[in-house]
Amino acid sequence: MPFRQLKLRRRCETILGHLDLTDPFSVDGLCARLAEQRGRPIRLHPLPKEAAESGVCGLWVGTSSVDYVFYEAQTSPLHREHIVLHELGHILFGHNALEGEENGTGIPAALGRTNYTTRQEQEAEMLASMIRSRAGLPGPGGGPGGTLERLETAMGVR
Ligand SMILES: [Zn+2]
Repeated sequence: MPFRQLKLRRRCETILGHLDLTDPFSVDGLCARLAEQRGRPIRLHPLPKEAAESGVCGLWVGTSSVDYVFYEAQTSPLHREHIVLHELGHILFGHNALEGEENGTGIPAALGRTNYTTRQEQEAEMLASMIRSRAGLPGPGGGPGGTLERLETAMGVR
């Protein structure tokens, strides 16, 4: 495994060490614990249709008091779960949230666009995959040999 990925994996393991991936694991439970640690609620919402149509599948938008995690709803439950875990990965790594503003509808208006670096994307993805395997969740790629499975193998997750 390349050194850079090994280091990334170590950083993920450190973060995971502070997480309680209790059995039975649930994404909702993880959100609740994370929200408690951060002292800010995390609200999950399906992505607005326009955003989903633009090819985005997940977003983390932070307002002054709440973290919103948006996910593409028109997909399989496993993929949806993976999208949420990926966004939680950004939160856990402390990447910058997209700034949002409360607008009275219960769903914030996002200001600007996401601008994560490739490295931040890899960090979030690696963490999401490691949470999955630690929690014993099946991979989202349709089992062994699926696209995601192969990607994870390439990234040294499994
Ligand atoms: Zn991302």
